[in-house]
Amino acid sequence: MSDGIRRLAAVLILVAGAALLWLAGQHSHDAEAAKNDLDSTVAYAREHAASSDPRLKATYSFERGGWVYVHLEGDPATVGFQHGYLLAKEIEDAFPAVQAGMVRSTRRDWAFFRQVAREMLWPKIDPEYQQELQGIAEGLNARTGSQLDVYDIVALNSFEEVPDYYVPWLNKKEKLAGAPNLKSPGNCSAFVATGSWTKNGQIVIAHNNWTSYMNGERWRIIFDIQPAHGYRILMDGFPGVIASDDDFGINSDGLMVTETTITQFEGWDPNGKPEFFRARKALQYASSIDDYTRIMLDGNNGGYANDWLLGDRKTGEIAQLELGLKAYELWRTKDGVFAGSNWARDPKVLKEDTPEFDPNDMTSSPNARRVRWEQLLNENKGKIDVSLAQQMLADHVDSFEKKTGANERTLCGHVDTTTRGVSVWNWGAFYPGGAVQGKAADSTMAKDMRLVARTGHPCGEDFLAKPFLAAHPEFAWQEPYLRDMKAGPWTEFRSGEMPAASK
Ligand SMILES: [Zn+2]
Repeated sequence: MSDGIRRLAAVLILVAGAALLWLAGQHSHDAEAAKNDLDSTVAYAREHAASSDPRLKATYSFERGGWVYVHLEGDPATVGFQHGYLLAKEIEDAFPAVQAGMVRSTRRDWAFFRQVAREMLWPKIDPEYQQELQGIAEGLNARTGSQLDVYDIVALNSFEEVPDYYVPWLNKKEKLAGAPNLKSPGNCSAFVATGSWTKNGQIVIAHNNWTSYMNGERWRIIFDIQPAHGYRILMDGFPGVIASDDDFGINSDGLMVTETTITQFEGWDPNGKPEFFRARKALQYASSIDDYTRIMLDGNNGGYANDWLLGDRKTGEIAQLELGLKAYELWRTKDGVFAGSNWARDPKVLKEDTPEFDPNDMTSSPNARRVRWEQLLNENKGKIDVSLAQQMLADHVDSFEKKTGANERTLCGHVDTTTRGVSVWNWGAFYPGGAVQGKAADSTMAKDMRLVARTGHPCGEDFLAKPFLAAHPEFAWQEPYLRDMKAGPWTEFRSGEMPAASK
């Protein structure tokens, strides 16, 4: 008997048993309670049967400091199955929140995103990642009976690139009257430093993720992936998504990777490869800055266009890859610092890929944070280490108003506190978004496959959903999804570590 048939038989026996109990209980229970008993027995039987699946042998997860750590190991289909199974609860919680945001902002229904996933994205994904995505849908189904299929999962994976890159491109192409005002997002504050800039001369890399709080409070997964091919990966991430996607990760051959998005980026290549797939592939297979650049350029679709900040701990070299669609630039140094806060700087990228962006408007969030990064990094030249990086990610200085107080212009962003919002991203007054978590590492930590991470605002302040929604009824549509985003402690994670209870 195959494992599958054996599992099915076990489920059927349990279901039959539950049905008998249900019949026997007709006299004493009311029908609804008995039906609930039956449902929960079926759910238990399904989960119990799946938990003995041999694909789950090497995998485990635990929670610490507000993060969910998952260890995934094996061939692509197995890694996917483990991901879907272990994070089933988190995927089923995150999926409707992401879906609601995508549908609402674009005024396109979910069938549209499924079609884009199936027809445009799927055929350009390498078979190993197709298998992993399929595995996620299967693992999720095995755990909960979820009806989400692989195209739902691919559409979820594309949530940073399809709504705000492809859809505006499509609306323009189709000359859609009254199209929604869609803007590429402005995610994150980050830097990478090396040489005389850091305390020990080693590379220091740090990043805080800026998103809607609704998405960001779910961006709390630490993925430890030991793939059958390529390098081992330690990265933060989002439930159901194969790339880090915000992005912060290290691989076992010495690559240290993060990014900030390019504000007011415009453009899409329908024949290109999805960004989420290229980013994951690059983290898994790149052994150098050149490798990383080559993989990101191969089939560049313009989606989720970023300034990639890279480090190679083997050489001490760092780089900034400004990846436009029509143009790109790569800067690199063994003694310097690159910072990002959602602005492009290459003249060609500015002219061709971000025609609307004004690099001289110092009131805007990206430019104000650029000034603040320059101040902070220059003031601390030669002293930068991971603990200082953590403080920088929590910085509340507004460089434009020259005063301290969290808002949309501070490195640790709190856009919900300001009437100004961030117009270049189409975030209105009091938009519930900003810095939602932070991560940092240095070369020594990367060598040991370690990183530190904090959930919630990197400054440690809590966001509370109830009073916010009461004060801002214009965001009532988020009520089913928006919840408290409490800051956790800075917490260290390491590849291969076991849950504390089983040590
Ligand atoms: Zn803050």
